Amino acid sequence: MHLGYSEEDESFRREVRMFFSEHAPADISRRWRVGVHPPARDDIRRWQRILYERGWGAPHWPVEHGGTGWSAIRKHIFMEELYNADAMDYGWQSTQMVAPVIIAFGSDWQRERFLGPILRGDEFWCQGFSEPNAGSDLAGLKTTAVLDGDEYVINGQKIWTSDATIADWGFFLVKTDTSVKPQRGISFLLVKMDTPGITVRPIVSIEGGKGLNEVFLENVRVPKSHLVGEAGMGWTYAKYLLEKERTASAFLYFNKRELQRAKDIAGQEREDGVRLIDTPGFARKVAQVEADLMALEWSVLRILAEEKSERNLDAVVSALKISGSEMQQRVTQLQMDALGPRAMRFDDHGEPQGDLAVDENWPDYMGGRTSGYLIARASTIYGGAREVQKNIIAKLAFGL
Ligand SMILES: Cc1cc2nc3c(=O)[nH]c(=O)nc-3n(C[C@H](O)[C@H](O)[C@H](O)COP(=O)(O)OP(=O)(O)OC[C@H]3O[C@@H](n4cnc5c(N)ncnc54)[C@H](O)[C@@H]3O)c2cc1C
Repeated sequence: MHLGYSEEDESFRREVRMFFSEHAPADISRRWRVGVHPPARDDIRRWQRILYERGWGAPHWPVEHGGTGWSAIRKHIFMEELYNADAMDYGWQSTQMVAPVIIAFGSDWQRERFLGPILRGDEFWCQGFSEPNAGSDLAGLKTTAVLDGDEYVINGQKIWTSDATIADWGFFLVKTDTSVKPQRGISFLLVKMDTPGITVRPIVSIEGGKGLNEVFLENVRVPKSHLVGEAGMGWTYAKYLLEKERTASAFLYFNKRELQRAKDIAGQEREDGVRLIDTPGFARKVAQVEADLMALEWSVLRILAEEKSERNLDAVVSALKISGSEMQQRVTQLQMDALGPRAMRFDDHGEPQGDLAVDENWPDYMGGRTSGYLIARASTIYGGAREVQKNIIAKLAFGL
C-alpha cells in the first residue's frame, strides 16, 4: 500500500507553495496571522483578486463557472499550503456558501450577475440565518418576507451575522409562508446590504473584535428576481449549503498550522534556560495534541478518498465537527501555555498594551495568540453546536 502523494501531486504542491511565497502580500498575511475581526474589506478583495488572476479564485467550483477541476487531494494540498504560508483564507461565505447554492439552484440571471463579482473579489457576502430565538432550532426563524407586486418586503431580525459591516450582499433565510410546517415555509433571498431599512449593529466579541453583528430589517424591499430557486424551498438549499464541504468542519488546515505555530513558539520560549519544547511536561502536551490531530487528518483523508462515494456521511461529518472544533481550542490553548500571561497584554490587533508598548523587542509571534485562543471558544458553537452534533451522531450512527 502506498500512503504518500504521487510525484505529480508533489510537483503541484511545489508550484502552489512557490505561488504563495511570491504572491501572498506580507501586510495581509500579518493581519491574518493576528486574526483581526472583521478583516479589512480591502484585504479580502485584494487577495481574492490575486487568486482569481492565477485561476485559483474558487478551486472547488465547476470548471465552467471558473473552478479548477482539481481532484479532492489537490484541493487538500492547496489548502495545506495556503495555511502554511499564512495566506488569507477568507470569503467562504461568498465562494463556499452562497455561490454553490446559486450555481445549483439559482436562475441564469443570478449566475450571470453574482458569480463573476464573487470570483474576482469585487463583492463579498454575509450569511443571515440565525435569529435571537432560532440558532440550533433554525426552522423556528421569524423574519418574514411578504410579496408585494414584484418585490418582497422583509421584516425581522438576524443575529451573529459575521462580517455584516463589511459585506456588500447577504443571503438570508426568511419565512414566506407561515401557514405550512416550519421547514416548508422558508425561502432563500439575496439582499444588498445597503438597501434602505437595514440596520447593522456590531456585537463586541470576547477578544474585542467587531466581526459579529445584529441585523435589523424593517420594510426592506427586495426584487422578486433575488429569490433563489422556488419560494418555500430555502430549507433544502440551506442544508445543501451546509453539507457542501463535508470535511471543512474539521478545520484541519487551521489546526495543523496553529499546532506548528505552538511548536515554533515553544522552540523559542525558555523555562529555566531550557527550550520549552524540550521540557518533558510541554513535550507531552504537544504529543497528545499531535497524535489526536493526526487521527483527525487521517479521517479527513479517508473522506477525501471517497470523493465520488454516495455513502451518507452526515454522522461522520458531525464527528469531524466535534473533533475539529475541540482541536481548535486545544491548539490555541497550547500557544497560551507556551506564552504565559504576557500574551494577554496584546490587543485584538496584535499590538502590545500599556507599559509593554514602549518595548519594541517583543517577538512577532506574541500578537494575536490571545485573540485566537478566546475566539476559538466559539468554534464549538457556530456551524452547529457540539450538543446538536452529538444528537445527530446518536440518531444516525446509533439509531437512538
Ligand atoms: C463566532 C460565531 C459566528 C457566527 N456566524 C454566524 C453567521 O455568520 N451567520 C449566522 O446565521 N449565524 C452565525 N452564528 C450563529 C450560530 O450559527 C449559532 O450561534 C448556533 O447555531 C447556535 O445557536 P444559538 O446561538 O441560538 O444557541 P442555542 O441554539 O440557543 O443553543 C444554546 C445551547 O443549547 C444547546 N442546545 C440547543 N439545542 C439543543 C438540543 N436539541 N439538544 C441539546 N442541546 C441543545 C446548544 O448546544 C448550546 O450549548 C455564529 C455564531 C458564532 C458563535
